[in-house]
Amino acid sequence: MPLIRLAYASDATFEAQPLEQGVEPHVARILMASRRNNGKVNIVGGLYYGDNRFFQYLEGDESAVRETYERIQQDSRHHNVRTLIEEPLKDRTFTNWSMKYVPASGDVKAFLERNQLSEFNPQAFDSSQCEEMIGLIRRSSQDQKLVNHGETTRMASQPPQTLSSGLKVGLVVAAVGLVVALAVAATLL
Ligand code: FAD
Repeated sequence: MPLIRLAYASDATFEAQPLEQGVEPHVARILMASRRNNGKVNIVGGLYYGDNRFFQYLEGDESAVRETYERIQQDSRHHNVRTLIEEPLKDRTFTNWSMKYVPASGDVKAFLERNQLSEFNPQAFDSSQCEEMIGLIRRSSQDQKLVNHGETTRMASQPPQTLSSGLKVGLVVAAVGLVVALAVAATLL
């Protein structure tokens, strides 16, 4: 089965909402569907959302990528979909990611600065900027961290994750055990 890679840029049609758990809610729903669907047909890639614009990179079997892209193009949550790259691919360059999300890390800011771009506008990327963005997605080591461009500060100031309920129960049991052990030790002294 021949492999292809595809990158496109588009403009979001929705008005960005406040982040929920670090993610713009529309984008979170898109990512959930993407991860569910892409994993089934072995498509990998990454999505970046910034300044109400999307950059997405997909690679996988030609038929699966084309079918997915057709569906994506019809999605009313974005428009002005512009194909930036669509070409055969010799070997896969991503492993284990059904849809990676690039956090608005210093990497993206540095990329914009290096290219003297005041905003994230992938519609205007030239081919080397596209490759740079794809490299950035590939190198990003944080899969589940979902951040929008320009929201780094808000993310950084978010409270740390609370303990899972399993861990809480474990800590309570350990604390009760310690108290009982101390009480038994006290009666023996
Ligand atoms: P569903 O389970 O039917 O939908 C998933 C969720 O999205 C539901 O909450 C549904 O209400 C909501 N939703 C679906 N369509 C719309 C819509 N038009 N407007 C508002 N809400 C809607 N899909 C992929 O499979 N892989 C991708 O890589 C991928 N990337 C995307 C990137 C972008 C920028 C956008 C805008 C969409 C992308 N999608 C992707 C979504 C795709 O366009 C389809 O919505 C999705 O594939 C439908 O799959 P489903 O039937 O399993 O989703």
